[in-house]
Amino acid sequence: MTMMDIQLNNWLLFAHTQRHNAEVEIVSLFPSGNVHRYTYNDFGARAQQLMHALDELGLEQDAVVATLAWNHHRHLECYFGVPCTGRVLHTLNLRLSAAELAYIIRDADDRCILADPDTLPVLEQVRDAGGLAGVRHVIVLGDEVPDSSLDGVLTYETLLAAQPDTYEQRDIAETSPLGVCYTSGTTGRPKGVVYTHRSTFLHALAATSGAGMSIGPSDCTLPMVPMFHAMAWGMPQAAAAVGAKQVFASGPLDPVATARLLSDEAVTVTAGVPTVWLGLADAIAAQGSRLPALRHCVCGGAQPPRHLIERYLNEFDIPMIQAWGMTETSPLASLAWPRHAYRDLPEEEVLTRARTQAGLPLPGVDISVRDEDGNEVPMDDATMGDLYVRGPWVADSYFKNAEPDKFVDGWFRTGDVVVWSPSGYFVIADRTKDLIKSGGEWISSVDMEAQIMAMTTVFEAAVIAVPDPRWQERPLVAVVPCPGASVTLEDVHEHLTANGWARWQLPDRIEIIEEVPRTSVGKFDKKQLRARFADDPAATPASAQPAASG
Ligand code: ADP
Repeated sequence: MTMMDIQLNNWLLFAHTQRHNAEVEIVSLFPSGNVHRYTYNDFGARAQQLMHALDELGLEQDAVVATLAWNHHRHLECYFGVPCTGRVLHTLNLRLSAAELAYIIRDADDRCILADPDTLPVLEQVRDAGGLAGVRHVIVLGDEVPDSSLDGVLTYETLLAAQPDTYEQRDIAETSPLGVCYTSGTTGRPKGVVYTHRSTFLHALAATSGAGMSIGPSDCTLPMVPMFHAMAWGMPQAAAAVGAKQVFASGPLDPVATARLLSDEAVTVTAGVPTVWLGLADAIAAQGSRLPALRHCVCGGAQPPRHLIERYLNEFDIPMIQAWGMTETSPLASLAWPRHAYRDLPEEEVLTRARTQAGLPLPGVDISVRDEDGNEVPMDDATMGDLYVRGPWVADSYFKNAEPDKFVDGWFRTGDVVVWSPSGYFVIADRTKDLIKSGGEWISSVDMEAQIMAMTTVFEAAVIAVPDPRWQERPLVAVVPCPGASVTLEDVHEHLTANGWARWQLPDRIEIIEEVPRTSVGKFDKKQLRARFADDPAATPASAQPAASG
């Protein structure tokens, strides 16, 4: 006889929330300026009405039910309402094109889509592309159906109003699927990653912990990351687990409104990708408030430039905690909290040792950094290697067994190239596909663009590899100058040289652009930059032309 055998399923989070945190608030701000407020108790009642509604629609017990929605309370109801019936929640990325959505909806075999009203036009295109062939119901997340040529669209509020608000708890095995998320396809075709009830529960607990996002009952969360991006990094489940107040900002990011919301609702923890923090910094500065309630912001999905971390710390007194993860790792796998031993070090040193690192692995997550032969490289702060990861919330395969060679002897090969240090931190040097291989040596595009972005004349910069007949690949930098500033290749060379870069590492080419293209989740889209510059032979400088063409 040992301990109780309680299945770690979604009910464990959901039932606890309504029972023990009933009065805690959930707030949603809509682009119209409307603010919706209710409590966990109200939320719980409505999520149970949704459970009944899904049953009544006759959807199979294990059907995949998709959402196509911004961040708001109704989406939160779907986060819990769908999996608590045993069905599988599929959070569709509403920034994808109709063709991409059609592919993903068909691949996941979605049976029902809960969609925000403003997404109906794209769903019409998805239908025209054959993406809705297997979808039996489209439900609009609102109280009326906007004009649409889609057949038989249902209304969420009408469906819920007709249902009782208590639902008999289901016995769901913890290893059952809870949700499916697709990788955003930065480096290839989107692949499905299936989260289980157990992995979601454990990930939520890790997210609440001091090694994770550090969320407790005294906190108020606002995920700046969309709820379709790797389940908002587990923030909604983590907040629900501990009864933290939750705030959502619906619609495309509006930095001014968000800065005000952070302040008005006294948000204490928030999370998002670096580009969001870049946009928000000026709005916080203009607002003139340093957001005293905000304890820290979690920044992940791409490497935040050092100057951004410094700005938040020095100008606003907000520690930016870097996180590393992937859709395949639920996504949180590591966060860069400084160690206790660093308390008395100068801030510069803490930045180098901890804050600019991708983090320390969360409890239960194991990493391994290996060379091409599969041997671990030394933890010497210098040697690059391929990052492998394993853990209770790391995928053991893709949906439909896509790309099986990424799963090796119980490890997931991430495709990231990293350097690890004896102190336990690791830092992302690059993605395998973005690393610049010049004459047998590797140049980190991430390091180089971070360095270039520290120039006072540079607003943003992205570095890509351009094929080169002699060196195999050479760096090209695409720069968005600050308003009114000009940036030349010589300026970049001078700055990099002054910061210790070797001559052979310096970029061969500069392109001045208006903005760095973004992926559907707001990261720099290097695929697009490569298509524009690297794959365009006409743009290749004369010195790099193959001899035969000269
Ligand atoms: P996609 O793979 O389609 O971009 P994900 O959101 O799953 O979608 O992205 C995971 C990738 O994001 C990681 O493999 C890594 O390259 C990058 N990434 C995540 N966090 C960081 C970080 N802190 N620093 C650098 N890169 C990061």
